[in-house]
Formats: sequence, C-alpha cells, structure tokens
Amino acid sequence: TMAHSEALLVLENFIAGKFVPCSSYIDSYNPSTGDVYCRVPDSGKEEVEAAVKAAKAAFPIWSSKSPLERSQILNKLADLIEHDLEAFAQAESKDQGKTITFARTVDIPRAVYNFRFFASSILHHTTECTEMTSMGCVHYTSRAPVGVAGLISPWNLPLYLLTWKIAPAIACGNTVVAKPSEMTSVTAWMMCKLLEKAGVPHGVVNVVFGTGAKAGEALVCHPDVPLISFTGSTLTAQRITEKSAPHCKRLSLELGGKNPAIVFDDADLSQCIPTTLRSSFANQGEICLCTSRIFVQRGIYSEFLKRFVAEAKKWKVGNPSDPTVDVGALISKEHLEKVRSYVKKAQAEGARVLCGEGVDSLALPTGNQKGYFMLPTVIAEVKDESCCMQEEIFGPVTCVVAFDTEDEVIGRANGVKYGLAATVWSSNVGRVHRVARRLQSGLVWTNCWLIRDLNLPFGGMKASGIGREGAKDSYEFFTEVKTITIKH
Ligand code: NAD
Repeated sequence: TMAHSEALLVLENFIAGKFVPCSSYIDSYNPSTGDVYCRVPDSGKEEVEAAVKAAKAAFPIWSSKSPLERSQILNKLADLIEHDLEAFAQAESKDQGKTITFARTVDIPRAVYNFRFFASSILHHTTECTEMTSMGCVHYTSRAPVGVAGLISPWNLPLYLLTWKIAPAIACGNTVVAKPSEMTSVTAWMMCKLLEKAGVPHGVVNVVFGTGAKAGEALVCHPDVPLISFTGSTLTAQRITEKSAPHCKRLSLELGGKNPAIVFDDADLSQCIPTTLRSSFANQGEICLCTSRIFVQRGIYSEFLKRFVAEAKKWKVGNPSDPTVDVGALISKEHLEKVRSYVKKAQAEGARVLCGEGVDSLALPTGNQKGYFMLPTVIAEVKDESCCMQEEIFGPVTCVVAFDTEDEVIGRANGVKYGLAATVWSSNVGRVHRVARRLQSGLVWTNCWLIRDLNLPFGGMKASGIGREGAKDSYEFFTEVKTITIKH
C-alpha cells in the first residue's frame, strides 16, 4: 500500500559532491505503518564505478591534508548534524521503526560523537621508534592512509554505525564509498547534504544506495577498493570474505551475537533487572549487543523470573513517534515473521512463554495496525541446544534458564558459535574478574551494559567477527604501516 497523503521521499546517490538520480529504485517501508514512503536508488556496478572513481580522484588532496585540517572538518560536520539532531532523530525513527526517544538519546548523539571522537583521537597517535646501536641503525614506523575504503552498514543503528566507519576512515586520510542498508538509507542521505558546508571536499565521502547483492557486492568486488569495513550478519560476512578473496582485501567484520547475561545469586537485582530488561529489549532487541540468553543461579531463579516478567509486561509497545513508547516496530514484515517463528519453535519444543508473543494481546493505535510490532517476550525452560538458545533472533525475545555453578555456566555461556558481548552480575569482585577472563566474548560488561569508551577495542570473537574498531584499532585498520630503517 502507498501512503497517498504525503509525497514519496526519493533519495539520490551522492557522488563527487553531487546528488545524482539512479535509473531504478527500491521501495522503502515505514515499519510502523507498513506503507511505502520512500524510494531508494537501486545502484549497481555503474554507480559504484562512478563513486570509486570520485573517491580515487579525491584521495591525493585529502590524504595530504594535515590531521588538524581534517579534524576541524570532522568537528564542523559533528556540529551540523547536532544542529539538526531533531530532524535526524525523526527521520531515523520513521525509517527504522525505533522509538523517537531512542533515536534522540542514542542514535543521533552517538553519530555526532563519532565525528567528534575521531576528530580528536586522530591528533594523538604516535608511531614507534627503536634504536639498534650495535648496527648503527634507527628504525621507525610510518603510517599512511590506504586509499578508497568500502563501508557497508546494517539497518539496526543506521547513522550510528555508518558514522562509526566514515569518521575514522576519513580522519585517517582515506576517501570512502559507503553503502548503507537499503532498508534504512534516509539519514545517510541527509548527512550528505551537510558535507559541503562542513568543508568535506567533493569525492571524499560518496554514498551509493542499494541492495547488498547488487551495490554491496559491486563495492566488495571493485579492484580499486583495498579495504572493506562491514557490519552485519555472519552469513553476509562469509560471502564478502569469498568475494574479496581474489583481491586479498583487508576486512573488518563486525557480526552477530548470541549474548549471555550471567546473574549470580549475590547480584544486586535492583540494578540487574532494569538493566537486563534494557539489554534484552532496547531498540526492539535489534542491537548486536542485546542479551538473549539469561543464566540465573538456581537460588534466585524464581524470584528473578517473577520480577523480570512483571517488569517486561510494563514495556509499552506502540507508535514510535510517541515519546512514552518503549518498543517501536521491527524493521520489516519478513523480519517480524522470522522473530515470531522462533517463539513458536520454542513452544513446540516444550519451553514456557511467560509473557509477550502468543500470550498477551497487543493493542495498537489506529494508524499502526499494519505496522510490524511485537511484545517483549520472555521464554523459560528452553534447552541449551534449542535454536532459540543457539541462533541470533535479533528481536524482543529473551530466554531465561537456571544454572548451579560458575564452571558450568561459563561452559554453557561459551557453548554457541558467537562471541560478541556478555554481561556478568555479581558483587564478588574476584568472581567478576575470573568469569570475565574465561568468557569467549569480545566485550564483557559486569554489573552494567552498553557503557562504551570509544578509545578501547570493539568487536567480536568466533562467528561474531574479525578485527576490532576503536581509537587505536580503527587507526591501525584504516592506515598502512611501514617500517623504515636508517643507518647512520
Ligand atoms: P546484513 O548482513 O543482511 O546486511 C548488512 C549490510 O550488508 C547491508 O547494507 C546489506 O545491504 C549489505 N549486504 C548484504 N549482502 C551483501 C553482499 N552479498 N555483499 C555486500 N554487501 C551485502 O545484516 P542486517 O540484517 O542489515 O543487520 C543485522 C545483522 O547485523 C545482525 O546479525 C546483527 O547482529 C549485525 N550487527 C552487528 C553489529 C556489530 O557491531 N557486531 C552491529 C549491528 C548489527
């Protein structure tokens, strides 16, 4: 169905500093109404070729600017996005289905901060130097930008994750061709409108819109794009790895998770319960860092479950633009069906669904009847081998199970193919350190969740990714190092 009341928003690619129309387009839906409201360029090889050409042409000038000059431009861009924060937040909420509150307080502030952070951190890197007096030598390293970076981002945190790539890439002196998710392209397009005013020279940032199979793959296969930073699913990462192999490209892969929360019987439940609700259901559970397996020590299992379910039922699902709403719409009809199917499978396996999908009824405002909504859902008594405990569901669904000992729970927490993020709840400092060390997880939060210092490495182990991003890590990824030896 088409939204007749308003004109369709039509996006254009941004290449060499200009908006350029495309010969064909893809429909983009408003997840909270089910209406098509936007058309996104369906770019392919030709558009990617033009963008790579523009990025290559801009590289010599951009890469020879001083870090301070680039830093000033990034700061200006941060200011411009911040100035339009409300418009960006509204657009992100409408395009993605997330609540306006989440977009206002998390997505867009973080996009602003990504530019500010790398504008600052780029000024503070030093290279290494060693002396070898016996040989009369000094060795040092020098770092230079690599060239044209290909950046591919997912739909769950659209501008947040795209700018987490664009900012370090251009701060280091690379030029970029970015491809946002075809389902959430609007805020990237809005950002392009600010680039010229911020002083970003033409061709430094190019954005090509379209599907993964067409536009994404053309970028991955382009011989003049030596590095790809990708955030998305493990399946797509495998495809990207294969497709880029003939060129031996440098890859940074930030992928899915099946993140455990481990709640010991000495945990402060007054902190643990509200935070674990957020870690399970924030952004409709569509954050790679969301908790979906909650292991609770036997002695407090029933109390935890009772309180957790009672609180989960209070989360208000509805129109994302209503600031009192806690859970917005899921990204698409297909995704909603997929998330629901996991709940059905759990039931068929004999697990107990304690609240949410299939148990409670969902009343939606008149305008949102065709939106992709779902209640926060808590499942108990599900086996570790169940697909609900092994596969990434990426929706507002979390499983709660009991455990007895520290050794046992570490084994079970590690018993999945993923290794992105874990949370540990305990007031015993020794235990917290011990457990954190043994978890196979790129990030471990103890007695908190999602508190990030962008200086430190972010990324996953096992099927959750390859490589890390952060102040030093992104600098290393987006530059090529050389060791130079001087004999005197
Ligand atoms: P996805 O893998 O389907 O798509 C991600 C991006 O890759 C999109 O822009 C898509 O168009 C593109 N793409 C798809 N096929 C491609 C191909 N063959 N070649 C090149 N590009 C291709 O993922 P999604 O459904 O958009 O996002 C959800 C996934 O992302 C979840 O698994 C989630 O855990 C993960 N994620 C990970 C992190 C992290 O930092 N580790 C952050 C957010 C999301």
